[in-house]
Amino acid sequence: MSVKISTTNSKLGLIPSVNLPPVLTCRRNCPCAKDCYALKGRYRFQNVKDSLINNYQIYLENSEKYFAEVKNAINNGMVSYSYFRWHAAGDFVDDKYFEGVVKVAVDLPNTSFLAFTKKFEIVNEFIHNGGTIPSNLHIVFSAWGDDFTVDNPFHFPTAYVRFKDDENKSIPTYASECSGDCTNCLQCWNIKSGQAVVFNKH
Ligand code: SF4
Repeated sequence: MSVKISTTNSKLGLIPSVNLPPVLTCRRNCPCAKDCYALKGRYRFQNVKDSLINNYQIYLENSEKYFAEVKNAINNGMVSYSYFRWHAAGDFVDDKYFEGVVKVAVDLPNTSFLAFTKKFEIVNEFIHNGGTIPSNLHIVFSAWGDDFTVDNPFHFPTAYVRFKDDENKSIPTYASECSGDCTNCLQCWNIKSGQAVVFNKH
């Protein structure tokens, strides 16, 4: 059993990602669970579901193996990726997982990493306890409608979702539009503290 790295996400294009089961690894009672894009489309295929569970199980059973395999997939002497996305599906599992994500960024300084999260407390707690986010690891806090509170005392950049009908009042006017083509955009890999991006809801 080895960690499955995805290179077939149409939005990410050429940028690889590692993915985990949505909902199971997301924050409890997250407001987007009932309408999660990672439960639709290709994510409904059994082989895709199995690969996400497989990745999760490897992490639970042997976290060192999990992160070593992710690192080896990104940079192994033959292949070296400049950009990597944590979790097109899923979220940071726990504090230890986040520390692993930070260490991978420290160990691979020539790769730029991106992770969206709604598990704000894991990141906030890491910093609160003296941790430092490496400059090549870009964390974006994910909002969801006007009623969901984003606990963001350290001013991480924020991603908003534009709903068709309502609940768009919290989207700041300065938020950049998502083009839907990461390989040719990369703005989320360059987003800075206090900035924002907005996605149209799938
Ligand atoms: S704004 Fe650009 S980099 Fe960010 S998710 Fe959209 S296409 Fe990808």
